[in-house]
Amino acid sequence: MVSVTLDQVTKRFDSVIAVDRVSLEVEEGEFFFLLGPSGCGKTTLLRMIAGFYRPEGGHVRFGDRDVTDLPPNVRNTGMVFQNYALWPHMTVRKNVEYGLAMRNVERSEMDRRVDRALGMVQMGAYADRSPNQLSGGQQQRVALARALVIEPDVVLMDEPLSNLDARLRLEMREQILALHKEIGTTMIYVTHDQKEALAMSNRMAVMDSGRVVQVGTPRDLYQRPASRFVADFIGEINLIPGKLLDAGSGYSVETGLGTLRAEECPAGLAKGDGVLCAIRPEGLAFLEGEGTPGDNTVTGKVHSVIYLGEVEQYLIELVDGTMAKMVEHDPVTQRAQPGDDVRLRFSPTRVVLLPSRGEGDAEAL
Ligand code: ATP
Repeated sequence: MVSVTLDQVTKRFDSVIAVDRVSLEVEEGEFFFLLGPSGCGKTTLLRMIAGFYRPEGGHVRFGDRDVTDLPPNVRNTGMVFQNYALWPHMTVRKNVEYGLAMRNVERSEMDRRVDRALGMVQMGAYADRSPNQLSGGQQQRVALARALVIEPDVVLMDEPLSNLDARLRLEMREQILALHKEIGTTMIYVTHDQKEALAMSNRMAVMDSGRVVQVGTPRDLYQRPASRFVADFIGEINLIPGKLLDAGSGYSVETGLGTLRAEECPAGLAKGDGVLCAIRPEGLAFLEGEGTPGDNTVTGKVHSVIYLGEVEQYLIELVDGTMAKMVEHDPVTQRAQPGDDVRLRFSPTRVVLLPSRGEGDAEAL
């Protein structure tokens, strides 16, 4: 396993800048995710790491080795694609041993490694089948075995679970996580599915229009998004516009709902700046009685309620017209009906202040 360093990597296709000066450090043994909406440049970046595309600018390093100009076959990466990309005319065993045969590994060693790789993905019993006799999930497990059998320094995965149904996707998440734990190889995984990235990654980079806009652990990115784009892309968020009043200890924001307080404020925001108070739906709660001193309090009218079993989702029109989403966990009884006037509270610790436009977004970087 190796670390992977990207240094100001850029790739254009005619007038489109698919990847724009991306710098990243993926640590040895890390399970790192590239997350972003369709067309943001994730696949192009992964392909530059694999060596399928040569960047116009910047460098790709595996450990201390600069691999920018090396072809894919000498980088020792294993690749897993969304569409499995198995050879239909070869058996499962032949598919998996292909990379070893290309490396002139001798027969007995090859058999040993293929058996081990198929065992790791629980496909040993299917070695003599052809890919068209397998389900999608089984084909993807063979594709994984094929990537792992060469004992790669880095495993690269491009939306590997997108073609599977929801239940199988969850099962395969677990299996891939267990494999990563077992072999410890550096893995880089591309997805547009934020839940997959939250559930599986050690760290992730969120991309927008060819740029990396934020890097962090799932918890960092969910709880402390640095921009509206990241806040919106990872999960649901309520955004209340306002103006920053104080930049001392504890922060006040003048909004259409009154003065709201936040505990933290990112560097770069100053008194008088336009800001968005970002609050996750689970950060809001119904206020009954006097509430907790120090909490923010807002009022509104219930617009709609959706019962989902483990949670109940409320859409509430606040007095400034903002439609706020709120979730109640373990909703044994429904707390309010559409049309009810309600008061909500949220702690200043749950408020993330974001620049109201520009900063932190791809076009401003
Ligand atoms: P998706 O999740 O839809 O696969 P992505 O984030 O992986 O999207 P890329 O496939 O990397 O995005 O594409 C980034 C940009 O580069 C897009 O605007 C795309 O149209 C463009 N692009 C990608 N490959 C090519 C190509 N071979 N020729 C021309 N333009 C390309």
